[in-house]
Amino acid sequence: MNPSISIIIPIYNEEGNLIPFFESIIRHCKDLHIEIIAVDDGSTDRTPDELSRAAKDDARIKVVRLKRNFGQTAALAAGIDHSSGEIIIPIDGDGQNDPADIPLLLRKLDEGYDVVSGWRKDRKDKFISRVLPSLFANKLISSVTGVRLHDYGCSLKAYRRSILTGIQLNGEMHRFLPAWCVWQGGKVAEIHVKHHARTKGKSKYGIFRTFKVVVDLITLKFFSGYLAKPNYLFSGTGFVFLILGGASAAFAIFDKFGPDRFSKLRIPLLLLAVFFGLGAIFLVLMGLLAELLTRLYFQVRHQKPYRLMNE
Ligand code: UDP
Ligand code: MG
Repeated sequence: MNPSISIIIPIYNEEGNLIPFFESIIRHCKDLHIEIIAVDDGSTDRTPDELSRAAKDDARIKVVRLKRNFGQTAALAAGIDHSSGEIIIPIDGDGQNDPADIPLLLRKLDEGYDVVSGWRKDRKDKFISRVLPSLFANKLISSVTGVRLHDYGCSLKAYRRSILTGIQLNGEMHRFLPAWCVWQGGKVAEIHVKHHARTKGKSKYGIFRTFKVVVDLITLKFFSGYLAKPNYLFSGTGFVFLILGGASAAFAIFDKFGPDRFSKLRIPLLLLAVFFGLGAIFLVLMGLLAELLTRLYFQVRHQKPYRLMNE
């Protein structure tokens, strides 16, 4: 069995990097049934010309052009939507990932996994601004998602298409894909992959990406835990507020009939009771609103996070 493989490359201003990179993919995948989906994420340099030329020379290379720069995650989503392979392999277009690892990912996938995650054990990026923050980010993502991987940020991974159906990619979400797959019941493995320093062009990211990742992680946690039942979270908290408010009111009433006619506690307790009571009402109402929104969300899910060049 020789499954069809879609290699997906989000590309933003990578002139000079692309031609040698495509050659390297084709050399290392010569025995495989591949298509290369090159997604031009609104490049402003000579990338579009280089892509047109490459696609003309090799029918396996398909170009998807986005109307503007939508970001790596949206570009990946566009690539997945325009691919047809049974196996999906995202890879960076700057030559930092090594296509020689593609057959190794596939061999691991063949052992019965749904996702094989690349781990750049010997990463060739700046230590303080990139490698160190990513070390913390990986620990954080691993503990929040419960899916322990060493390198969520490595683009080079292999996925079975079947495990990706239904995913919606937003923000910097592509890095959480392996965790999402495990939540869907998929099996994930990790292998070491090679990494090279960038030789041409600039990295599109700095240290601020780490903050975005943390924000996305909170969203992800909410979406995974409560998207289908947000009212549990809101009304659940509201219920706790109700109990606390009731207890405060009970103490205040008890205090009124107590021995001390002007107890210092009575006013604060009444204020607390009012605070918790109002809080409970708001939380329940917000829970209902959230239910309404998530129902709408599910209805409009077929919306895409990008627009194509010729739309
Ligand atoms: N990229 C993209 N859109 C963007 C930023 C980056 O398609 O808005 C592509 C970029 O061309 C490269 C990959 O995503 O192929 C990874 O980007 P980069 O090499 O800048 O990230 P780093 O390796 O520094 O993490
Ligand atoms: Mg790079």
